[in-house]
Amino acid sequence: MKVGCIFCQIVDGKVPSEILYQDEEVIAFRDIHPVASTHLLIIPKRHIPSLTHLSEEDLPLIGHMVNIANQLAGREGIADNGYRLVINCGEQGGQLVPHLHMHLIGGRRLSDELG
Ligand code: 5GP
Ligand code: ZN
Repeated sequence: MKVGCIFCQIVDGKVPSEILYQDEEVIAFRDIHPVASTHLLIIPKRHIPSLTHLSEEDLPLIGHMVNIANQLAGREGIADNGYRLVINCGEQGGQLVPHLHMHLIGGRRLSDELG
């Protein structure tokens, strides 16, 4: 828990969100400003600032986040048509919230451009 971190506050239930999944390690909720009909965020409950702060021991966590994202894509009904998983890292990577998070975006044809 990092004081002042909006995602840590969501984990603690201090900031409301539409939570779709949680377990001991991760939580998934709807993005407040969706860019497509499905736009979810999958985050570790532990405050990890970004991809660059991951240690070797954290790597199974990323696999777990991908697995949860795949399951949620199924539940959202977008698995067959396809979807995108994105992790922005740092200022030039477009990361605005400094608590590691994976975007699950789908429900429309996304741009072919990556950036
Ligand atoms: P980033 O640009 O850091 O990869 O993405 C941060 C995402 O968090 C944005 O898509 C933004 O809409 C979302 N977000 C920021 N604050 C909140 C919030 O308080 N609640 C929810 N549900 N999403 C948020
Ligand atoms: Zn945090």
